[in-house]
Amino acid sequence: MSEPKQYDVIILGSGPAGIQAAIHASRKKAKTLMLGRLSESSLYWAHVENYCCMFKVSGEEILRTGREQAESFGAEFLDEDVLKVTKEGDLLQVETEGGRLLESPTLIIATGTTRNKLGVPGEKDLLGKGVSYCADCDAGFFKKEVVVVAGCQSAAAGGASTLSKYASETHLVCEELDVAPALRQRILDAAVILHEGRKIQRIEGKTAVSGVTLDNDELIACSGVFIELGAKGVLELAASLGIMLDDKMRYVDVDRKQRTNVEGVYAAGDITGPPLQMAKAVGEGCVAGVEAAAYAKALKQR
Ligand SMILES: Cc1cc2nc3c(=O)[nH]c(=O)nc-3n(C[C@H](O)[C@H](O)[C@H](O)COP(=O)(O)OP(=O)(O)OC[C@H]3O[C@@H](n4cnc5c(N)ncnc54)[C@H](O)[C@@H]3O)c2cc1C
Repeated sequence: MSEPKQYDVIILGSGPAGIQAAIHASRKKAKTLMLGRLSESSLYWAHVENYCCMFKVSGEEILRTGREQAESFGAEFLDEDVLKVTKEGDLLQVETEGGRLLESPTLIIATGTTRNKLGVPGEKDLLGKGVSYCADCDAGFFKKEVVVVAGCQSAAAGGASTLSKYASETHLVCEELDVAPALRQRILDAAVILHEGRKIQRIEGKTAVSGVTLDNDELIACSGVFIELGAKGVLELAASLGIMLDDKMRYVDVDRKQRTNVEGVYAAGDITGPPLQMAKAVGEGCVAGVEAAAYAKALKQR
């Protein structure tokens, strides 16, 4: 991997919180990068009627305009998900699904909330009995066992790659794998068995997972089923940095400057909790962008 590219502010997520943070950070002349996909923002398919001074505007239009606006102030965009974040001294290192390495003294987590369920028989009853929503958390419990991962994006592919280091056999079931070529290659190199064009119809087992049945009636015998829908989840990213979450482990704890307990790491938008609304996301994004840019500048002047 090549030398990491340097930024003053890296923002995970390109929804309203991330875009507003990018606008404010870049206007403060911070070298700013935004990661993630507009189309993965929960606003993308929304029709907004309750945002101040905007009436009946499509979410897609808001996001596209916001991106253009942030770019006009110098912010860069990279349509890739983040797979890994680590901290070395004052610097945060970010690894993307495309295999890029990035570095910055500040990070703004604005990844929204997605922890979707598959909604198939067996999923609810077998949760914690072989069904998991976090490959990074639970991979170690499935050493030398057969596991199945469900999902089409970076969370699923990254999860399958992690699991392949523990499990005897790792299957990935998805309708259409939608990840960067480097990540696709990584799972193929890890000998993950890809069932593309398929869906899980049912998770089998009485007291513990015994297998999954696909929509073509194929049965894969396994003891673990990892449901990883969407992008790499904040829980895993936060856990890797030691970021404090709320009591229910759902949202990131922040103060009034949007700071988390980890120095240089901020969070904004749905990820910090309700109300899950654009107005709150934008307000928090503004504060996080201003604060992160000021923190990066102060570090440089030290
Ligand atoms: C159907 C629907 C209708 C809605 N209607 C309204 C409305 O009318 N008014 C209103 O105020 N709110 C509405 N909302 C809520 C609103 O969309 C959210 O509150 C808002 O989008 C939250 O913004 P955010 O920036 O925190 O997260 P999001 O907009 O969800 O953006 C998250 C971003 O993070 C990125 N991401 C995720 N994981 C990673 C990763 N590992 N690496 C890099 N990037 C990542 C995604 O690609 C995405 O770009 C609606 C929501 C839905 C689902």
